[in-house]
Amino acid sequence: MAIINVEDIIKILYDIKMFDDTLSHLIEKKAEILENVVTYEEKIVEIDEEIKEKNEKKKELHKKQRDIEEKISSIESKIKGLDEGRFSVKTNEDFFKIGEDINKLKKGKGELEDKLLDMMYNESDYETTFKTLKEKLDKNKKEMEEELKLKKNEKDEVEANIKKYEEEKQKKISALPLAVKNNYIKLVTKYSHNPIVYLHSDTCEGCNMGNPPQYAVNIKMKKKIEYCQNCGRILLIKEI
Ligand SMILES: [Zn+2]
Repeated sequence: MAIINVEDIIKILYDIKMFDDTLSHLIEKKAEILENVVTYEEKIVEIDEEIKEKNEKKKELHKKQRDIEEKISSIESKIKGLDEGRFSVKTNEDFFKIGEDINKLKKGKGELEDKLLDMMYNESDYETTFKTLKEKLDKNKKEMEEELKLKKNEKDEVEANIKKYEEEKQKKISALPLAVKNNYIKLVTKYSHNPIVYLHSDTCEGCNMGNPPQYAVNIKMKKKIEYCQNCGRILLIKEI
């Protein structure tokens, strides 16, 4: 690699810092988007579960109705059987006994029919409520799915940008002299999002500790690459 002067190295370091800052912003944004994606996905699952639950309830109601209808029809056939056998009995006692049984069965049948009517009435109420609720849930679900789609697109976009800036940054890093490059790589393992920081009034932006005033002069004059004497980060001066 060709030997480059301090001025050029510092210029590259400014570029790398710019990429680092942009990337850390994008990574934060990506995490935020992912959180949103999870929230929307969870909401959609919740809505699906609610719809499923309501459907189950509806099915259950129908089953109960069918059971009562079956009971009524079985009572009806019993009554019919008794009625047919009524005139072939031998004693009056038996004849009246059958009459009583039939009355008892008719009473039971009447009660079941009332119950069935109540259920049908409740069911039609339930159907109306269910329909309104289902429409609302479907609408909510659609909205969530649209939001989710938007967020996923946003995530793809951010990821593409991260990749692009990462590649640009790598190009800059490989242009650094080996010693500086190795220092930078070492710093990244320790301070992933800000291995290069600004010096504000001789204070390191990364660790808030003071550094000799000469550091700022050296950086401004592009005479020397300075590292924070406390945390070791590469120091730059914010250019106005
Ligand atoms: Zn520091």
